[in-house]
Amino acid sequence: MTLDTIRTVAVLGAGTMGNGIAHVFARSGYNVILRDVEESFLARARDTIAKNLDREAKKGKIAEGGQSKILSRIHTTTDLSEIARADFVVEAVPERLDLKLSVLRDADKLLRPEAIFASNTSSISVTTLAAATSRPDRFIGMHFMNPVPVMVLIEVIRALQTSDETFHTTMSLCERLDKKPVAANDAPGFVSNRVLLPMINEAAFAVMEGVATTEAVDAIMKLGMDHPMGPLELADFIGLDVCVNILDVLHEGFGDPKYRACPQLRKMVAAGWLGRKSGRGFYMYEK
Ligand code: NAD
Repeated sequence: MTLDTIRTVAVLGAGTMGNGIAHVFARSGYNVILRDVEESFLARARDTIAKNLDREAKKGKIAEGGQSKILSRIHTTTDLSEIARADFVVEAVPERLDLKLSVLRDADKLLRPEAIFASNTSSISVTTLAAATSRPDRFIGMHFMNPVPVMVLIEVIRALQTSDETFHTTMSLCERLDKKPVAANDAPGFVSNRVLLPMINEAAFAVMEGVATTEAVDAIMKLGMDHPMGPLELADFIGLDVCVNILDVLHEGFGDPKYRACPQLRKMVAAGWLGRKSGRGFYMYEK
């Protein structure tokens, strides 16, 4: 599959990431098939995309009135068989290996042999996912950042089996989306989470050990390091359960104790304090 033959893109999963991924492909002129398991999830995704497009129109990022044209390129469905006509697929279902493997195997059977399959996984081995399909050379990691329509980076992860052609096509496709692709090889946490999560974890240790308050840790990193968000504010945004899961992947993948999750983080997750999404994490939020 070459860049110019890609016209239709299927996105599997219409949650936080999937709706944003559908948004950016449709914004760049691609026909999108957005698939989820329930109609209500698709309705919510369409609403979110419409609101985000309105915001972009107000900011002048897209032409005023262009929203309906972009939305009309997104076809939503619960019927997996509709993805058979896709040239490129991005999987964005929840981060569970068993679920991803079953979704990949089902989709792989329906796709044309030349179609490229990408996963938006943030921590699962892309090499393992590629091996579950009949097209390991046409499989790649495409790690979009949240919120997808706003963030410019896509971390493009080469599985051990990814061909040069698949890699170059995917890098160029990211540029067509007005994003900046940066390449990494498959390794636990890739680059983004391998560097980010130990910082968040260390911030949690500093609070647990009474070195400084949550607010002080965040203020030091914002004012002193010019970070737009403090690490603990960012942890709440990502979700403390997601942070612990990624730390566990790093710990297990490298076998190095430096990646052990801070006990306080684990305790907060056990209490259901997951950050913004649960109304409480390091900070309190209105639900
Ligand atoms: P989410 O829970 O918001 O959305 C996942 C969606 O997939 C849900 O709507 C769910 O109904 C749907 N789904 C479940 N089974 C399905 C199936 N068989 N077919 C189609 N859809 C199915 O999750 P998310 O935050 O969007 O994360 C998706 C992926 O993106 C994960 O791999 C995650 O690690 C990765 N990711 C997330 C972020 C983030 O900040 N949220 C950032 C980068 C990468």
